[in-house]
Amino acid sequence: MIGKKVLLKKIDKFLSKRFGIPTRQNPLPKPIDTLIAAILSQNTNDNNSYRAYKNLKNNFGKWEEIICAKRSQIEKLIQIGGLAKQKSIAIKNLVNTLSERNDINLKFLNELDNSEALNQLTKFEGVGLKTASCVLLFALNRNVCPVDTHVHRTVNRIGIVSEKTPDKTFNSLNNILPDGVAHSLHTNLIRLGREICKQSKPDCLVCPLLKLCKYDAKNFSGSMKVTTKSFMLLDNV
Ligand code: SF4
Repeated sequence: MIGKKVLLKKIDKFLSKRFGIPTRQNPLPKPIDTLIAAILSQNTNDNNSYRAYKNLKNNFGKWEEIICAKRSQIEKLIQIGGLAKQKSIAIKNLVNTLSERNDINLKFLNELDNSEALNQLTKFEGVGLKTASCVLLFALNRNVCPVDTHVHRTVNRIGIVSEKTPDKTFNSLNNILPDGVAHSLHTNLIRLGREICKQSKPDCLVCPLLKLCKYDAKNFSGSMKVTTKSFMLLDNV
């Protein structure tokens, strides 16, 4: 257990050296903003979900205005982000419920530890572990590392965990997460997965983690063009 914590600190250090220490918003976004943006980010890319989020935010002065809006109007506004029907249902239900509780800004989360906060957030329709953990990291500054497809793939290839699904990876990874690394580690693992340790073929020759990675199917067939894909939706809500 101690060994993997040390390894994660090293990984965080090497990735920060390569990609930089990601900056954080100041002040942090409101939890409701992050939650809606995270719902919109499901199954699409950051650019399209950002456009969907901006369409929604610019159209409604306050999220409470969604209560009286037609669901079809919300669906139209977020069409660019895909899965618009189910996301519009989730967002409308979420805002309705929070408004009924008189807690649109999710203040109740401040009283809860990470595990209970995740438990409560995932009770909302359309909110899974990844979406809920993004609220904890990006809006509440908790030391929680959300696991998307890139984080899942990279930490399994490196050998930090050995899990079949992102949710199982989330639990295993967060059980051994050192203090204070969640934001930089999460952000830079995504960059690693997008730019170097790609799904189709990793480019191990240019990887900053080559010496400590345990992946037994490393690819050294020549350096592919490294693309820079640094835009992160949840750092820009
Ligand atoms: S060495 Fe290769 S497999 Fe391991 S993390 Fe780097 S790119 Fe991925």
